[in-house]
Amino acid sequence: MLKINTNFQKLPGSYLFSAIAKKIENYKNANPDKDIIRLGIGDVTRPLTKSVIDALHTSVDEMAHEETFRGYAPDLGYSFLREAVAKNDFEKRGCDISADEIFVSDGAKCDSGNIQELFSLDNTVGVCDPVYPVYVDSNVMAGRAGDYIADLSKFSNITYMLCSAENNFAPNLPEVMPDIIYLCFPNNPTGATMKKSELQKWVDAANASKSVIIYDAAYEAYIREDDVPHSIYECNGAKTCAIELRSFSKTAGFTGLRLGYAVVPKDLIMDGCSLHDMWARRHGTKYNGAPYIVQRAGEAVYFAQGQEEVKGLVNYYMQNCDTILNGLKDTNLKLFGGINAPYIWLKTPDNMTGWDFFDFLLEKANVVGTPGEGFGPGGNGYFRLTAFGKHENTVEAVKRIRSVL
Ligand code: PLP
Repeated sequence: MLKINTNFQKLPGSYLFSAIAKKIENYKNANPDKDIIRLGIGDVTRPLTKSVIDALHTSVDEMAHEETFRGYAPDLGYSFLREAVAKNDFEKRGCDISADEIFVSDGAKCDSGNIQELFSLDNTVGVCDPVYPVYVDSNVMAGRAGDYIADLSKFSNITYMLCSAENNFAPNLPEVMPDIIYLCFPNNPTGATMKKSELQKWVDAANASKSVIIYDAAYEAYIREDDVPHSIYECNGAKTCAIELRSFSKTAGFTGLRLGYAVVPKDLIMDGCSLHDMWARRHGTKYNGAPYIVQRAGEAVYFAQGQEEVKGLVNYYMQNCDTILNGLKDTNLKLFGGINAPYIWLKTPDNMTGWDFFDFLLEKANVVGTPGEGFGPGGNGYFRLTAFGKHENTVEAVKRIRSVL
């Protein structure tokens, strides 16, 4: 008789954002006249920029003619995009990454969920706590996470590396390095960053213990301070221990268009095998490439006009961060993040849980955010606000939050 993958049944409860949506729906049904402002889900709200739209139109037209029509894209991505990425995102920052180490994909969620397929189920896994849930859940589905311990809201085979105000939301190096370590900086949900000197310690430790770091840099474009690294390859020795994941979603508003890439350096040899070759094999088997028109749109982001437009998008959202940070700084909320990331992470007042504060803000201020415990047990007592809303809504939300504190 057929047996299912029972690992799926180990995943606890309903997905965070469906639970939030249900609460909002219930509230709206009971209070149809209330106008709710959503600073919860991390999705962009600004439209695609002119360069991107122009590139889409042009490439759509190419698809209409026999001479310029394109079928399957190369598995690993078109060279025009891989070269633009290598030059702009790495060479310009002094990182020695070549175009054939770039694997174009349809986004960082897929890559961050799929990358664990390269590793044996026996490996130990380390994640930050709180954490972007995909890293944990994909290891649960694969059967690497052990059992769920409900009292602790943790899986038995995962090392949770606490990120709290005490360590500026950057984890302490574990005494025993896990085999697979997920790091995400600038961080979702905390908005924290790691300085280059701190990240270098992780690279050195990973090389010493032969661990691999999966470095999620989906929010790289939001870095405003000079001493924050944009790529893990700015650290010495990262090419022998790290895979980096990037996304066009938050950089250029591609959440609905879908484009990202993974960097798997050729020097990354683990257990005698090239992870680059393994990821190429995996891509070739399971993936038929991101759409041509979307890759052309991605390329447009790297042209001079595209770069200016992207700066405009990022500045738009970061002004919202400034509005939130300035507007709430003299309240009883302790605020973190929002300097190099589009997220504000705040300590809830009066020892409220994140869910208590969610209910409080929804009912009293009609503002929606995200309870910290949705990102792991270390998020308990914290709350996330995003900068992805409209300016007017963000200003109004801050006014409302102030009035109920
Ligand atoms: N990585 C992190 C840390 C994220 O927060 C997100 C989206 O919220 C993603 C990856 C997903 O990116 P993409 O839209 O490219 O799949």
